[in-house]
Order: sequence, then C-alpha cells, then structure tokens
Amino acid sequence: METRILPADSPDTPEIAGEIIKNGGLVAIPTETVYGLGADGLNPEAVAKIFLAKGRPQDNPLILHITGPEQIPLYCHHVPAGAYALAEAFWPGPLTMVLPARETVPKCTTAGLPTVGIRCPDSAVTRAIIAKAGVPIAAPSANISGKPSTTTAAHVLHDHNGRIDAVVDGGPCRVGVESTIVDLTEERPRLLRPGGITPEQLLEVLGDLVVDKAVTAQIDKDAVVKAPGMKYRHYAPQCQVLIVSGSREKAAAYIRRHYEPGDRVLCFREELPLYEGCNPLSYGLEADVSTLSAGLFSALRELDDPAVHRVFARCPQGGGVAYAVQNRLKKAAAFHIIDPEQTL
Ligand code: AMP
Ligand code: MG
Repeated sequence: METRILPADSPDTPEIAGEIIKNGGLVAIPTETVYGLGADGLNPEAVAKIFLAKGRPQDNPLILHITGPEQIPLYCHHVPAGAYALAEAFWPGPLTMVLPARETVPKCTTAGLPTVGIRCPDSAVTRAIIAKAGVPIAAPSANISGKPSTTTAAHVLHDHNGRIDAVVDGGPCRVGVESTIVDLTEERPRLLRPGGITPEQLLEVLGDLVVDKAVTAQIDKDAVVKAPGMKYRHYAPQCQVLIVSGSREKAAAYIRRHYEPGDRVLCFREELPLYEGCNPLSYGLEADVSTLSAGLFSALRELDDPAVHRVFARCPQGGGVAYAVQNRLKKAAAFHIIDPEQTL
C-alpha cells in the first residue's frame, strides 16, 4: 500500500483522514506529545491493525482520543468530579485520564481492562479528524513497539512507510514526550506516567496524588501493573544506555575515562565542549527543559544504529517536565545509573 502524506494545514486533510479512519484504516496523527497511530477505537478489526503494525503486546491498552470533555460520558461511567476539573484545567492538552470504561469500548482497545485511557489532544487538525470520523480515535505512539516514540512525520514513515494508509504531517511535536497518565478509578488519584502536565499541576487541581511504582522503578515483565505499558523495555536504542549522574565536571571526567570508539555521549547542549572527541549528541538545553523533552526521542532514534556500541547519557534533575524526561531516559537505560562519585 502507498502511505499518503497529508499536510496538516491542507483544508482537505480532516475529511480525507476522517474517511480513512471511518473505513477501518490506519492514519498517523500529529499531537502535541508524539505522533499517534490512529484507528477507529470502536472497531475491533481496525484496532487489531494498530497492534499488528506496531508489533504491540496484546495486553497493552490504547488511549482513546476525543474532541472534548462532553464526550467523556459516551465512553466512561462513574466519572468523578476531579476528571472534569482536570479536563477544564488541562484539555485540550497532554493529559490522559484512566476511567471506568463503558460497554461501547471494545475489549481490544482496553486490552481487556475494565478501564479506558481517554484524552483530548491539543492539535486542531487531529480534533478535526476525530470530528469528521465521528468516532473516538484509538492511538498509541506511532513507533514500532519498544523503539523510541515518533515526534516527526519522518519518524512515522521510517517505521511504517507502505504499511499504513496515511500520515498527517503537522511538523515536530511541541512537548515531545507522551501524555501524563492519571488513574482516577481508585480512592486516590494515581500518576501512572509523567508527561507534559506535571505532578505539581495535577496536585494543584486534585489536592492529592500517589505516584505509581512503575514510574520510578523497573517493573518485572510478569508483574500485574496499573499501566501495562510501563513494564516493557521502552524508548530504547538497540545498544546499552547508561545514565551518568552527578556534576557536569565529574560526569565528564568519568565518561571521558571510560569512552571507547563506537560509544556516543547524549548530553545537554551546554556540555558539548566537554565531550570533544567523544562523539557527543545534544538533545537540548539543560537551562530549558522543554527543549530536552522536545529533542529526546529524535536523539534516541539517531542513536538507534548498529554502529553505536554504547550510550552515556546525561539526565536533567528536578520536577516539572524534567520528571517526565528522567522517566523516559531511565526506562531507555533500564534504570542503569552510574554515580561517578561512587564509581571509578
Ligand atoms: P502509548 O500511547 O504508546 O504510550 O500507550 C498508551 C499507554 O497508555 C500505555 O502505556 C498504557 O499502559 C496506558 N493506558 C492506556 N489505557 C490504560 C488503562 N485503561 N489503564 C492503564 N493504563 C492505560
Ligand atoms: Mg508508546
């Protein structure tokens, strides 16, 4: 099949893409977080194509993308007031809420869970496509499973050219990491995945938040977890990734001492001069964490190359969006973190 490239700013795009979705096809959609691989979320056959194209494990549920809070009751029941408060504060935007699913949502979309992840994306063209399709769009990140997420249309074509019906090219994604996921089905709201909406912002609206252990630690592949996606090897280039913590100078001294030809250094732009001769790649400015989240997956994709033997990575400190960058990078590194103060 030929994969059509539909420009986001063409007035025909919502109609064309909406029609493909309505007819059970696959369209990669731009969002502020990452590109999603979208299909009719109410059509089990269409949803099955997403799993097939990505090589996604069947127990990993998809997020339903909707046009706004007014659609929440169509697909969810027992919706707590906090869900509407969050939607009011952060939608359209990079926040997914997990709520009890109605029978209208097929089991393959929720991976058999009684709950569904739901979000309203901050991309006008994508909301227009959902409206034209007349159905919610189920969409996980458009990467092949396990690989770094797709933040440009070129990334999507790299993974799926000729295997999906279309990609809507909306340029590079603004946030660059996947949505924040908060579970609202228990007594206390639970953060399942950090993202562009920060824990601090959630707390301000909800007044309470538990951080799930899957956010901060490696989860065993056989474990029963709240967010099934969190237990898989994720976001990773094919080689080993090692995070080197500590001060700029101590980390650089450690990395320079251990660097071997074929290794790469993934660092902040401010650090580039420290790694001359070590093949450094910067993913953004430490002083502006939004550039790090926007640049992370492109950099990890560049490092996903058989010629790269090992990656030494620098990770930002602190809360806010840095917390989401830390989460993705730690998962890419399978939580291998070296403290140069403790190691020779
Ligand atoms: P992706 O968009 O590729 O990052 O995948 C969607 C993520 O949302 C996965 O990590 C899922 O585990 C998570 N997710 C979707 N629906 C649910 C749900 N009902 N409960 C918990 N997590 C969910
Ligand atoms: Mg994903």
